[in-house]
Amino acid sequence: MTDVAFIGLGAMGIAMARNIVEGGHTVVGFDTSEAAMEQHVANGGVSAPSATEAVRGAKIIITMLPIGAVVQTVLLGPPGAVENIDAGAIVIDMSTIHPSETDDIRDGLKAHDVRMIDAPVGRTSVQAETGTLLIMAGGDSADIEEVRPVLECMGDLIIDCGGPGMGSRMKITNNLMTTVLNVLTAEVLTLGEATGLDRDLAIEVMSGTAAGLGHMSTTYPAKVLKDDLTPAFMIDLARKDLGIAIEMAEKTGVPLALAENADTVYADAQSAGRGAEDWTAIYAMMREKQIS
Ligand code: NAD
Repeated sequence: MTDVAFIGLGAMGIAMARNIVEGGHTVVGFDTSEAAMEQHVANGGVSAPSATEAVRGAKIIITMLPIGAVVQTVLLGPPGAVENIDAGAIVIDMSTIHPSETDDIRDGLKAHDVRMIDAPVGRTSVQAETGTLLIMAGGDSADIEEVRPVLECMGDLIIDCGGPGMGSRMKITNNLMTTVLNVLTAEVLTLGEATGLDRDLAIEVMSGTAAGLGHMSTTYPAKVLKDDLTPAFMIDLARKDLGIAIEMAEKTGVPLALAENADTVYADAQSAGRGAEDWTAIYAMMREKQIS
């Protein structure tokens, strides 16, 4: 009986499938790219002529495809690979897709008695190569435990995200941070250089402050996450610094895509009477508006 079927052998999938092969499993792969199929076979995998054939007899079916519509079509069709998936098998979708697509695909598979785990990955193809991905698993905990040995071939940190669909939601939330932070990082370094700073020195400095370390592991734990908004650093002072940076950017002609939006949020906090609170109160304010 086939151990694992792997559909989608692209930048990520090809290395993930290879690591499962190296973990001692039989991996029947399918990709629409012939070059990917040749590489998979060279890596010790088995090739199938279609996704529908790849899944025959597999206990675990992994999809690593570009977008949700492709995952949906491949698995559910019609006709979809699900027609050939054994009842009781587990599909692990590791693609990054919209959580509502994850929910729809899970429901479609459930109608065939096929279980599903959404398990998108953090990090990049560099860690896919070395089997050191961070895997955000959503599903029944017992199902996650059942497939853990295969997940461990691909990742060195597997986190049960708290239920079906939560891996997908975690991944999109994570990527909101990383994609926006990428733009902010570019803005900050560009402004720094425009004002004459040495870029390497700027990176060295910011790697030791909340700028580079991130608020979640520096400022938030002692303050807003403990509901303590007494100021370690006041919102009024934070906005003063942001204003200076915006003015310097204007003078040096560096366009700031994010800073001015952030300034309006600090202004809102001041208008709401939070100027003397800790700057992490920005989160408290946002949460109060959106969640309660
Ligand atoms: P990719 O485009 O390199 O690979 C996708 C593969 O799917 C390709 O080889 C393509 O030929 C194949 N494919 C497309 N349609 C198919 C079909 N109908 N049947 C079979 N194969 C089909 O993409 P990637 O970088 O490997 O990313 C895959 C997923 O992982 C995406 O959702 C991406 O957002 C996510 N992701 C990527 C990274 C990264 O660093 N590249 C990191 C984390 C998550």
